[in-house]
Amino acid sequence: MFYVNDYYRHDEIIELAHQLIQIPSHPGVPHQEKDVAEFIYDYCGANGLEVQFQEVTGQRKNVLAFLRGSGTGNSLMLNGHLDTITPYRMTIDPFNEGVHSGYVWGRGAADMKGGLASMLITLLAYKRAGITPDGDIIFAGVIGEEGKSEGTECLINSGIRTDAAIVGEPSNYQYAIGHRGLEWFDVIFTGKASHSGSPDGGINAIEKAAEFIYRAKRDLYPKIRQREDEFMGVSLMNIGIIEGGLGQSTVADSCTVKIDRRYIPGETVQSVMQEYQEILDDMKEQDHQLHAEIRKSSANDTILSHPPLVTPMTEPIVHAVRSSIREVIKREPQITRGRGWTDAALLKVYAKIPTVVFGPGDIRMSHTESERIAIKDLINTTEIYARIIDNFCIKDKIMEIENPPWEY
Ligand SMILES: [Zn+2]
Repeated sequence: MFYVNDYYRHDEIIELAHQLIQIPSHPGVPHQEKDVAEFIYDYCGANGLEVQFQEVTGQRKNVLAFLRGSGTGNSLMLNGHLDTITPYRMTIDPFNEGVHSGYVWGRGAADMKGGLASMLITLLAYKRAGITPDGDIIFAGVIGEEGKSEGTECLINSGIRTDAAIVGEPSNYQYAIGHRGLEWFDVIFTGKASHSGSPDGGINAIEKAAEFIYRAKRDLYPKIRQREDEFMGVSLMNIGIIEGGLGQSTVADSCTVKIDRRYIPGETVQSVMQEYQEILDDMKEQDHQLHAEIRKSSANDTILSHPPLVTPMTEPIVHAVRSSIREVIKREPQITRGRGWTDAALLKVYAKIPTVVFGPGDIRMSHTESERIAIKDLINTTEIYARIIDNFCIKDKIMEIENPPWEY
């Protein structure tokens, strides 16, 4: 029998999570994830795991570690992002708060350096136990998930394929098999500047934008909110930023409305854009001075779009995740509905890899001023990851169901 806890010490996973947090990897850090990728590379190498870099852009790179299988059965990817968001206004030390009160603290603790630690320790425990799974287990530490998802895009383009994948975003002992797609759009209004004392010579782009927003709220919001998916919730839009104008005494010559659109199956990037275009077309019929266009925001202008995640309940990996969580928490785990976008959608849609979102920690801790992850979550999730490999990648089970759980 294989007991994952026999093959690593709990202080090892605490230390690893803490070390990953100590290496900043947010936007603005030179080469952003480079240092954390190199740390993982060295850590895996020192522990006898096969490891390699994957160059993505500039000096930013993914890091891949492998536990080779016998080639007789299912392979699995454990995917986690190396980047974090910026430590805005944190009330704790974002990198050196350390370990106390049952938690590891700092930027990225929950989202998702704790998840990286659980994944790496799981691979390591199998390696130390000398167990060869049926298929390869691939750890993929990827860059840029909080940005354009360049890391997972590069991973997919490199041709790496597995029979299933887990994205280790914090999920609080639940798991997600669906979430909304995400696209950012700019609606750009062009007017004509003139002095506010003689406004008739100008065209006010802000007023055009205001009319657009009014119509979107009146006509589109109610329609969008009626669309619903059982795993994702309702379709959503948010106007997050409005930019425009030259000065208080000048008729505004330009105005941009920036939209975040969370869409569900049945909608596409094209159909969603078309709905905004129809509002503009309607406005143009009544207003011949209107010049407006809609395009994808440059911040979101990647080769791959960000579609919804749809992994069918019938996929074997869904069953493996569900029963593995259940074996540890001793009750049926819930499915998370309506969570935010993750790289899981790219893996499922573009690489055709059935993917489930499951990882340690509480998503409500992500991006917070006192971000932290419970030590027991790191340990329990390592147990669950080990069981997922056992359930999905090893035909003759090696773990007992009745292994007593850590108090969770
Ligand atoms: Zn994340």
